Amino acid sequence: MTEKINIAVIGGGIIGCAVAWDLSERYEGVFVFEKNSGITQGENQSSRNSGVIHSGIYYDQETRPLKAALCVEGNRLLYDFCERHKVPALKTGKLIVATNQAEDNILGMYLDRATKNQVPGVERITGEEVSLLEPNVVAESALMVPSAGIVDPMSFVYRLNTLASNNGAQFMTDTEVAGFELAGDGINVVFRYRDGKTDRAISNVVINAGGVDSDLLARLIRPDSPYELDPVRGESYKFYGHKRPELKLQGMNIYPTPELVHTQHGSHFTVGVHLTPTFDDFFYPPVVGSTVTVGPKLVAVRDRKDVSCPPLDAGVFASKARSYFPGLKDDDLIWHQMGVQARLKGQPDFVIQADSAAPDFINLLGIDSPGLTSSLAIARRVGKMVDGLIRS
Ligand SMILES: Cc1cc2nc3c(=O)[nH]c(=O)nc-3n(C[C@H](O)[C@H](O)[C@H](O)COP(=O)(O)OP(=O)(O)OC[C@H]3O[C@@H](n4cnc5c(N)ncnc54)[C@H](O)[C@@H]3O)c2cc1C
Repeated sequence: MTEKINIAVIGGGIIGCAVAWDLSERYEGVFVFEKNSGITQGENQSSRNSGVIHSGIYYDQETRPLKAALCVEGNRLLYDFCERHKVPALKTGKLIVATNQAEDNILGMYLDRATKNQVPGVERITGEEVSLLEPNVVAESALMVPSAGIVDPMSFVYRLNTLASNNGAQFMTDTEVAGFELAGDGINVVFRYRDGKTDRAISNVVINAGGVDSDLLARLIRPDSPYELDPVRGESYKFYGHKRPELKLQGMNIYPTPELVHTQHGSHFTVGVHLTPTFDDFFYPPVVGSTVTVGPKLVAVRDRKDVSCPPLDAGVFASKARSYFPGLKDDDLIWHQMGVQARLKGQPDFVIQADSAAPDFINLLGIDSPGLTSSLAIARRVGKMVDGLIRS
């Protein structure tokens, strides 16, 4: 007989783990299906991101209202969670620097956006004030964003996983979901173990948190789903701040003014190649170390099954960063990592919605950056949707 479960979460990345934790606080029978051998293993987004706690300043209310709201809410929830559960996280603050008048004008637009999105405490500061905060950074002016910070993403996922497991959620690793069938009393989840054997469980609710494969999972329940991902490779390098005095940073996130890029799908601003401090391993309370990541720089992926391609040259990153951090030389940079973002084609916002033909199937699509920051707010929102389904 097919096993009956309450809630099936597909995908054990940050989003699947956050949703499972939130739901396991009040529901029994939560199962997470993860095709990798472990949570946080494999080349998913959650193990290969920049670890920045975003403030919510980048997202306009017109085209990205969910990102705007969930990032600001998620920022607050994430700091609270990390403090309560001893996950390394620090409100380092962020400088978004302008190096000329044109960039300074763009910063004005982001300052207005900060006000609209209710991002706390954002201020415009002068180049002299920038050099007092970060002497090796050169700028005409900047936005100082105090609520931005950094988190250790792997520790965060690990803690969510532990808390959800302690509440009774079951994590089925090495288990790939291969299909869904609508049944009279729920949704049949068909899954395959690593040895090739298949099995099925019938679930009251299904949540698709499949990251870069979330559009494929959406099509397993509805072949004509309108959403398609257009994944992008995010590459980054790193340097060691103790190597030379000109590379020393005080520990803030340093971002350039967002840059307008033109693609075949239209024009949009990208946050640009930025400098992100990281933690020295294994200290709690967390200590910012000497390693600083530089990137990511986004590159289109032609075939999502084969995202490998020669990495961009270090010089590309160094020359971008030198515009505001002049002491950086090409040969200071060491390859850091590559991660693939689950960007949606033609849709800049997160999509969090029940399938129109199967209301007990909730899709989380296009959860690219700032998905890490927004994760606990996304989980809350999904939790409310599930409450509505289970109590109705
Ligand atoms: C380079 C880069 C930098 C980023 N920087 C930041 C940042 O600084 N700040 C920020 O807020 N966000 C950042 N992000 C975004 C953030 O990392 C993601 O939004 C977040 O990790 C998404 O988590 P997820 O759980 O949705 O996806 P994933 O981590 O990709 O997890 C999806 C999981 O689903 C599993 N899965 C897929 N299909 C199946 C199936 N059929 N059966 C079973 N399991 C399946 C996969 O194995 C995977 O483990 C960045 C992302 C990248 C790539």
